[in-house]
Amino acid sequence: MLCHTGPRGTAVWVSAAVSAGRACAALGARGTGSDARGRNITVYLPSPARGYKLPRCPTCYLPLPGCICPLTPTIHTQSQWWILIHPDEGIKPTNTARLIGATIPHTCFFPWHRTAPPTALVALLRDRRFMPYLLFPHGDPTLFARLRERPWQPDRVPAFVLLDGTWTQARKMFSRSLYLHGIPRIAIQPQRPSAYRLRRQRCAEHLSTVEVAIALLEQIAEPTASSILQAYFRLFAESSMAARHGHPLHTPLPEMLQLRTYNSHNYLPPVES
Ligand SMILES: [Zn+2]
Repeated sequence: MLCHTGPRGTAVWVSAAVSAGRACAALGARGTGSDARGRNITVYLPSPARGYKLPRCPTCYLPLPGCICPLTPTIHTQSQWWILIHPDEGIKPTNTARLIGATIPHTCFFPWHRTAPPTALVALLRDRRFMPYLLFPHGDPTLFARLRERPWQPDRVPAFVLLDGTWTQARKMFSRSLYLHGIPRIAIQPQRPSAYRLRRQRCAEHLSTVEVAIALLEQIAEPTASSILQAYFRLFAESSMAARHGHPLHTPLPEMLQLRTYNSHNYLPPVES
């Protein structure tokens, strides 16, 4: 098993207090709380961010009346997710990469620094057990199409490296990170524009980070994982939009029933301390 980000939703803002001390990243720590399963976590409080005065759930980061943690699914997938976070991105409540960490238990997060390569990520990239792909705006779309052929089989595991930031930041992260240059670069040509209204996309084809993961899961023939992550993303996006208008969701979404049904068949027992 790879380094964990810890349990549901604790990834980006969590210190090393999760998952037997094997958390991948710690971007900062200024407060404490507990996650959906009762474990103590440390929360980064983003004082410059919008709405920072609202008491927020330390896990899903929504204002407490709109907390979506009881519906957080645990998604099973063979794929690995290694997310490199731009320093400006980790503090944003609208960040969608943490939805991947909240739902896919073995997700790894790495803070990006201009001068210091993340040694844990560099080691993973050299590990022959994995077949890494770097998602990049100017990557090769034919690589995306060929994922259907499952080229990593029989003895390797697909690992997707996502650059979490604006597209301008992503290009800068790539150009200044030589350890990323040897990874096959893959581009997604989405079937539809981004549905994420909380963040302005520079171009219609630019997807949010979680939408990239949804498309990749579908492409590697894991439709259940893709569909459940899509449902959780819609719940997050709609709840965030409602919170921006000062209230929790007024009308239940169909995705809430979808998540409840899925979770009832994927019960995750509490972890003993
Ligand atoms: Zn929550």
